[in-house]
Amino acid sequence: MILGPGDAQWSALAEQTTEVDVVIIGSGAGGAAASMQFADAGLSVLVLEEGGHFDERAFSQDQGVAWRQLYADDGQRVMSGNLYVPVAGGRCLGGSTVVNSAICFTIPQWRFEEWRAEHDLAFDWDELQPWLRRTERFIKVTASRPSIYGGNNAACQRGLDALGWSGGPMMRNAPACMGCGACQMGCPSGAKLSVAKTYIPRATQAGARFVTRARADEVVRDDGRVVGVRAALLDPETREPLHSITVRARAVVVAAGAIRTPVFLQANDLGNDHVGEHLHVHPGSGVIGVMNEEVQGWRGIPQGFYCDEWHRSEGVMLESFWATPEVFYMSFPFGNDGMTGMNDFSKMTALGGLISDASEGSVRPSGTPGRAKVNYQVVDADRRKLVLAQLRSAQILFAAGARSVRAGVYGVPELTSPTEAAQYLDPNTVRLKQLMAVYSSHPHGTTRMGDDPTHSAVDSGGKLHGEEGVYVMDGSLFPDVLGVNPQVTIMAMASMLAQRLATTLA
Ligand SMILES: Cc1cc2nc3c(=O)[nH]c(=O)nc-3n(C[C@H](O)[C@H](O)[C@H](O)COP(=O)(O)OP(=O)(O)OC[C@H]3O[C@@H](n4cnc5c(N)ncnc54)[C@H](O)[C@@H]3O)c2cc1C
Ligand code: SF4
Repeated sequence: MILGPGDAQWSALAEQTTEVDVVIIGSGAGGAAASMQFADAGLSVLVLEEGGHFDERAFSQDQGVAWRQLYADDGQRVMSGNLYVPVAGGRCLGGSTVVNSAICFTIPQWRFEEWRAEHDLAFDWDELQPWLRRTERFIKVTASRPSIYGGNNAACQRGLDALGWSGGPMMRNAPACMGCGACQMGCPSGAKLSVAKTYIPRATQAGARFVTRARADEVVRDDGRVVGVRAALLDPETREPLHSITVRARAVVVAAGAIRTPVFLQANDLGNDHVGEHLHVHPGSGVIGVMNEEVQGWRGIPQGFYCDEWHRSEGVMLESFWATPEVFYMSFPFGNDGMTGMNDFSKMTALGGLISDASEGSVRPSGTPGRAKVNYQVVDADRRKLVLAQLRSAQILFAAGARSVRAGVYGVPELTSPTEAAQYLDPNTVRLKQLMAVYSSHPHGTTRMGDDPTHSAVDSGGKLHGEEGVYVMDGSLFPDVLGVNPQVTIMAMASMLAQRLATTLA
């Protein structure tokens, strides 16, 4: 059952106390996957989701409307620090999976072994791997079809073929994708299998209840022990609290995403000093290539091809991308000929890299419910990777036949050859403050996992160190940087942890 404003049962929750086995805060990748495990195990489950319930009947192709309906802080969430970096996230039933590009990588084994070497994890690859495979099957991961690449992804493939660099068609959870290009505004055909199409329907069939427009604000304690959550039912227009509800539960699972999970915990004095620290976001940086021929990059999958040639050696994972004209115009230096440059919009291709960031940010409550203060200082090693991401992207697009490349670096002219790209996109000379258009949408690590409480916030079962009955099951619990798009790994880890907890609660 999914409840929202307008349902009599939603209003009936007002000022009431509901008792369940498990209450989950957040219905994104982690919360939804966990809800299914708990419900399948026969436990009573209630999920609180701050955002509203939207699907293909309500998604809008208007960027501003999409930001307001579907995104945290109406799409304006940014990190402060030594660079201006947006950190996008979903705020709706299904969380960020509703607005993501459906890219489905899983954690490489070498990265997991790095995690195990540095952090005190009580499970190994042989335990995690079946959950990764099971998740891929459940959300129907398949390779992108060339017939819906469109010109943008085809250019990336051409460049890689010419250079002989490793890469391929993106694995995605949208088998019936039509390549309309609108992923980040919600899939208008319903082809993208966000958790609102997979885990949530299955969990509701098994009896789980999802309450939308319900923001968890505080925990309920009995004799110091956490025994539930108090939430505000929100007016869908003003987002002001209309009513309060109380949910008492044997286990409280926080899955509000890596920005809001630590904020909820800190606001309630829960957890140790690692809560809210060690934030990784995979900052990304890219370039635009201008071809001689029509590309019409808005047709086709927005992110349909990748290059992993530089992933392990340089910490740069390259992926094609597409965005709306206003985003391109704001993000790249078009110089005095800006308007004229945009005449080439239909000939543009876009490619960029997300980096395995060594930088670690921090998250704190802002004092305004629902908002976080995020601080992130880009360290020099990451500055270099961000420049390399642009250089490698430029090399691929020139190899694909680009007549010029516009880099996201202030002061760099329109580049007309790979030689110029190497000259201007030199990691030894490009300064941090020159970098434009650095973007992120993969926050993780803010309640990092490990069995040593002096080093981590939650144990290998996701339980908060020093607290009984409070668990984290979302991207916050990654012990370190992941390096690839995270949704599948989050779903797999949340499923594994939820199934284990369910056996102790059943
Ligand atoms: C634009 C964009 C594109 C992306 N593309 C990809 C991609 O192609 N592939 C990929 O693997 N990853 C992608 N990601 C990242 C991926 O979707 C996320 O890493 C993943 O969904 C995070 O899962 P989560 O459970 O940690 O949090 P989320 O999925 O963000 O869910 C958290 C939920 O908690 C809710 N919430 C927060 N606070 C509260 C509260 N106090 N009370 C109640 N509810 C609350 C939020 O509203 C939200 O719905 C993308 C992300 C974005 C934003
Ligand atoms: S490209 Fe269009 S059809 Fe395909 S998943 Fe994205 S929004 Fe859906």
